[in-house]
Formats: sequence, C-alpha cells, structure tokens
Amino acid sequence: ARRTLIAGNWKMNGLRQSKAELRGMAAGAEALAVELLVCPPVTLLAAFAADVAGTRLMIGAQDCHPAESGAHTGDVSAEMLKDAGAVAVILGHSERRADHQEGDAIVKAKVKAAWRTGLLPIVCVGETLAEREADEAAAIVTRQVRQSVPDGASAANLVIAYEPIWAIGTGRTPTTDDVAQIHGTIRHVLAERFGGEADGIRILYGGSVKPDNAATLLATPDVDGALVGGASLKAADFLAIARAA
Ligand code: 13P
Repeated sequence: ARRTLIAGNWKMNGLRQSKAELRGMAAGAEALAVELLVCPPVTLLAAFAADVAGTRLMIGAQDCHPAESGAHTGDVSAEMLKDAGAVAVILGHSERRADHQEGDAIVKAKVKAAWRTGLLPIVCVGETLAEREADEAAAIVTRQVRQSVPDGASAANLVIAYEPIWAIGTGRTPTTDDVAQIHGTIRHVLAERFGGEADGIRILYGGSVKPDNAATLLATPDVDGALVGGASLKAADFLAIARAA
C-alpha cells in the first residue's frame, strides 16, 4: 500500500516570521495518518528543519543543481540541501521549467543528484491549457515522465507530481476522471520501465488543491497525495487538506 504524502510548496513565499505557521503544522502533524512535508524557500530551510526536529513534519527543498559543488553562482546543491536538513526536493516544477528554461534532461540530472545524496525527488509533470485543449495531455505527461526520470527508480526513491499548469493558482481543477486517467497513464509508463516497483511509486496531484476539494481529489484512483501551493502557507488550510486524505 502506498503511504499518502501531503506536500506543501511554499514557492517564493515566507520570511523568518513564518515559523508560527510551521509550528502549527508540526503540532498538527502528530495526529495525522499521512506523511506531511513542507518545502519552504531555501533561506528558511535550515531554520525550519532545526525547528521541526523530533516532530513528524518533514522539510524539503524546491530545486537543486545537478553538481555536488563548484563554480555555479547562486545555485544550491543536493548535498547542501541535505546538510541543511531537507529530506526531499521538488524537481522540474512547471514554474522552473518556464522561468529557468528547464527541460527534461536537466530535470533528470537533478533527480540523479537527489539520489546521490539520499534526498527524495518529487518530479513534477503537467500539460499547458493549449496542450489539454489539443487532447495532448497524456502524450505530454508520458514524454515528461519518460525523459525526466532516470533508470533505477523505485517505490522508495521517487515521487511523481501531476500538476496541470492551467490548474496552478487558478482555482480550476481537472475532473476526477481526467485526474484518474493521467495518473493511470503515469503509472503505466512507470510500469513499462520499472515493473512491479511502479505499484509503490506515489503519484501526487497538484493544482488548486484546497480544503474543500481535497477529499474528492485524494479519493481519486491512483492519487497518492497532493502537492499544495497557496493552501500550504497557512497551518489551518494545510492541516485541513491532510485530514481530508
Ligand atoms: P496552487 O496549489 O497554489 O495551485 O499551486 C500548486 C503548485 O504549483 C504546487 O507545486
């Protein structure tokens, strides 16, 4: 059975004072059956990780560089994230694919960097509105999963997040039939390469997950959790989503 993972992506939000929300999340995590992960901006990573030590709340990062160290001004390696207390890292988010021209090849190299240091990569895939309307969603997501995931994936070392770009921050979500279809496609693509391991790989849904739609989305076949943006910034909302799972 796949353990439900509720992950919060804070994106470029949060200051030191946000620790109050973090503490609320850590306190609420104790009573949850699901795994709870918060991915703050890198400036807060070490302080947050230290603050939640000994609780069930886990801390992750939002990106890493493929290399271990070196002349890469402004970048942060997987080793540094691990050293700061991260256990996971979001990779290939559509905002990084768009803002920083990240393609599948670089995402794949970053997954290898995460594995090298023992971080759990959460690899994001998803189609644009134009691609959805052209009936290309399954094909786009298939290509992204095939090309962004390196050989050697297993239930223990990979999480996929399906985030339709048109659902991010818009309040719009796909129908549960559409979500089930894409998640089923992703699992099929993983099974082609990784056989029975694919049964254990968690596939999260992301895009306008809120307390009032979480139960429905999380009950959808092949949905093993959520990657939450805006609603992960407030402890009350984030915990309500986790409790709906
Ligand atoms: P929202 O939940 O704000 O739509 O963001 C989703 C997302 O991009 C999470 O990575």
